[in-house]
Amino acid sequence: MQYNWSRYLRLILAGITGTTLLGWYFGVPLYGLLTGLTVYLWWTLLQARRLYQWLGNPSASDEPPQSIGMWGHIFDSLHKLHQSHLSKQDTLRSRINRVQDSTNSMREGVIMTNTRGEMEWWNDAAEYLLGFRRSTDRGQYIHNLIRSPAFKTYFEARNYAEPLELNSPAKPHIHLEFQINQFGDDDRLIVAKDVTRLFQLEQMRRDFIGNVSHEMRTPLTVISGYLETLIDHVEELPPKWRRAIHTMQTQSSRMEALITDLILLSKIETGEHTADQVPTDVEVMLNQIRNDAKALSGEKGHQIDIQITEHRLLKGDGNQLRSAFSNLIFNAVKYTPAGGQITVIWGTNRDGAHLTVKDTGIGIDPVHIPRLTERFYRADPSRHQGTGGTGLGLAIVKHVLINHDGHLEIQSNLGEGSRFICHFPYERLVERAPENTSS
Ligand code: ADP
Repeated sequence: MQYNWSRYLRLILAGITGTTLLGWYFGVPLYGLLTGLTVYLWWTLLQARRLYQWLGNPSASDEPPQSIGMWGHIFDSLHKLHQSHLSKQDTLRSRINRVQDSTNSMREGVIMTNTRGEMEWWNDAAEYLLGFRRSTDRGQYIHNLIRSPAFKTYFEARNYAEPLELNSPAKPHIHLEFQINQFGDDDRLIVAKDVTRLFQLEQMRRDFIGNVSHEMRTPLTVISGYLETLIDHVEELPPKWRRAIHTMQTQSSRMEALITDLILLSKIETGEHTADQVPTDVEVMLNQIRNDAKALSGEKGHQIDIQITEHRLLKGDGNQLRSAFSNLIFNAVKYTPAGGQITVIWGTNRDGAHLTVKDTGIGIDPVHIPRLTERFYRADPSRHQGTGGTGLGLAIVKHVLINHDGHLEIQSNLGEGSRFICHFPYERLVERAPENTSS
């Protein structure tokens, strides 16, 4: 509502003129004027004091101070403002309560931290899963409560594309998956999900495959041993058995290779072969693999070139790296027709270190590329016949690279050859010590 200022001013002027006229009537007009002004000043101060007192604690009384004129209008306006502020506050509070209630009903732990990583709020599930206590933990650094170095690195890296899995610091039998979202001014919302069942199932699957493979290895060794003895005396056997014995030997060798790869994959996956931080000489390793690849190529006479532009060492598990690199190079030999060219390049750019295996072979239809690293996935089941492949090679490569903070990139087209690139982070490179020459 618009206040009528000119009416108010006229009223004050009329009052002061009245007291001046009264003074003039008694022969002291100046006193009359002064009395009018003093009364007005005193009344104004009184209203200002009432306003000040009311503003100090506006919630103490429902009604604002009553007054007339401009002051009455100010009191009413401020009262209305205060009421609307209160009602907005109520709406906001009830919304916050609703969000908190719904977050509390979640099975996932939800934690909010501020820019400095101090804990501001968390829900009941976080209290249960991570053992936080409202009475003591509010304002604490999250790293003081989740004391895992892996969590600290993940939290500070600010790259939350992939979740982090960890055991709960308070209940080690609970396996948690952490996902962090950044919001506001570098605040963070951390969601901790209980994935214990999934983790146990995954572990059971790995253990099962590992155990079965181990159990199968002994009988298979016995069978292969007998088959080899039979092959040595194959000329003494009736002709109809000879073919059978040869087929049995080929199949038992295939099974041996399969079991070896399964055991290796399960070890790499379970972290039994944790990526040891040993500086590895990639150049020496590649030259050794090239000799084996030449032997595999045999009469097919592939041209195998190694180009090295990076002479620093690669920190990692030498055995795992050898498996990964040899799988890629042997695949290039297997899937490249006789006389083809295979080029292996080890180098770096500002994105990190890269090992590229390039061939002029049969290539792969791009539709298969996203699934190639799955166990037993084959781009074309007919093409692997006779290659002796187990279907596990690229799965091994993928897991080795994961263990080394890297990833595999595949570029290929049917009939145009293939390019497999192992990417490693720059931090994995270490300077070569003068005396260090071993791989
Ligand atoms: P395999 O033992 O069958 O070679 P891998 O896991 O090593 O199993 O490879 C999976 C599939 O990817 C292969 O069956 C093959 O179809 C394809 N592949 C791998 N490397 C190459 C390559 N250099 N050129 C063409 N195809 C390839």
